[in-house]
Amino acid sequence: MRTIEHWIGGTSVGGSTRTAPVWNPATGRHEADVLLAEAAEVDGAVAVAKEAFASWSQTSLSARTKVLFEFRHLVAANVDRLAEAITDEHGKVLSDARGEVQRGLEVVEFACGIPHLLKGDYSDQVSTGVDLFSFREPLGVVAGITPFNFPAMVPMWMFPVAIACGNTFILKPSERDPSASLIIAELWREAGLPDGVFNVVHGDKVAVDAILDHPDIAAVSFVGSTPIARYIHTRASQSGKRVQALGGAKNHAVILPDADLDYVSDHLVAAAFGSAGERCMAISAAVAVGRSGEALVDAVAEKARKVVVGSGRTSASEMGPVVTAAARDRIVDLIGAGERQGGDVVVDGRELVVPGFEEGFFVGPTVIDRVTREMDVYTEEIFGPVLSVVRSDDVDEAIALINANPYGNGTAIFTASGEAARRFQRGVHVGMIGVNVPIPVPMAYYSFGGWKDSLFGDKHVHGPEGVSFYTRAKVVTARWPQVSHPADASFHFPTNS
Ligand code: NAD
Repeated sequence: MRTIEHWIGGTSVGGSTRTAPVWNPATGRHEADVLLAEAAEVDGAVAVAKEAFASWSQTSLSARTKVLFEFRHLVAANVDRLAEAITDEHGKVLSDARGEVQRGLEVVEFACGIPHLLKGDYSDQVSTGVDLFSFREPLGVVAGITPFNFPAMVPMWMFPVAIACGNTFILKPSERDPSASLIIAELWREAGLPDGVFNVVHGDKVAVDAILDHPDIAAVSFVGSTPIARYIHTRASQSGKRVQALGGAKNHAVILPDADLDYVSDHLVAAAFGSAGERCMAISAAVAVGRSGEALVDAVAEKARKVVVGSGRTSASEMGPVVTAAARDRIVDLIGAGERQGGDVVVDGRELVVPGFEEGFFVGPTVIDRVTREMDVYTEEIFGPVLSVVRSDDVDEAIALINANPYGNGTAIFTASGEAARRFQRGVHVGMIGVNVPIPVPMAYYSFGGWKDSLFGDKHVHGPEGVSFYTRAKVVTARWPQVSHPADASFHFPTNS
């Protein structure tokens, strides 16, 4: 059995005695064991990262940028290798895995512009003979704790910006699909990143708690489910760290009667069932407004039945398995609860078997109509290929429904009315909004993040807020007096002259 090791100080490191199994979700086979770090191993990695910080933080902007450009080139050249590792451990289809690497790469490209992003302000002669300027410094050792559903992209939301800003980084990836992080570590080394600047420590709650309490870690970025995000934010804040903790989601798409049915149903099916619904920006609730309901459900159901489900390695597959047997069982149970609680299961993926992959963790696309806001399928984040359809009388009621939901990650409206779209974008309490765009993930040069229970902390990831998160500002007030002039020190609070 292959053992997946940590990466500390530019090399693979073994050591832990505890391990977790890593599965291939398409075949259901146990393929490897990943080490689970103890607190002492986290300490060791932090010591290495702290030592590396002393020189990396003093490395010139142009030298840091050269490493980033080289890393960008290497990731682009290794998209297929990364995508295959992702597909084999996560299950998503290869084209989707390539897409995730591409979106991560865009953050690397953003970080290549770090000399521009770190420029401060300068004000000449704010008072006679006095100048004022600002600059930003890195924080020190920072950590990223990431979820299973984007094993390359989500870490890449964090570390390119953190490292470009002059920090050193400890990544604690999901123990369910840990291999992509080690390919990334090798690519950093090949790009010329000094040893110890980027480290990977695998683990579970033990490693996470050691990170949250460690006095030499200055900041923690987290992406995962809401209960854990809330815990991370509280515990890391208590130990004095800067924290951004992105949580779960329940993303609604509102469909108005004037929207083009063909366009909407194509996009809804892709947004609900792409990556088997294991995306924090997946559409899991369709809100059919007014008379759009019946025709919409028919169109979506027809297309949902045609989704090609299979191994992510099979080129014809449009949707792969879910990540573990436990995830499949939970999703199947929730569909059952939806049925018992009065939902109309129009398309049922519970019994799906993929020929040749009978042991795989598959659930087929599922559409449940007539869902109400009390049902478990509505209140729970299912994180599987299940689309609930909720009915609403008008756009204001749909906005109120979204605002009553504890999550506020993403949402979308489908309409031909600019007025309705504008009312929607101004009215919803949600961080990322699509207008005729089902999965409105911002580009790398904007920042990504939701509202309410979808984000704890006050900074979103990547883009300008990422640079701000991983740095702190200094403002300098400077005077270089002419020695021949008399000193003008005074006892009153400084005013301008
Ligand atoms: P998860 O919360 O179970 O795990 C995330 C990370 O936390 C992993 O590294 C895991 O090892 C660690 N962890 C798990 N339990 C822990 C505990 N008790 N104490 C300390 N650490 C713990 O999430 P997941 O199942 O890997 O990922 C899916 C979730 O992530 C979904 O809820 C999804 O919506 C969310 N997500 C959110 C975003 C976003 O941008 N808001 C993006 C991707 C995924």
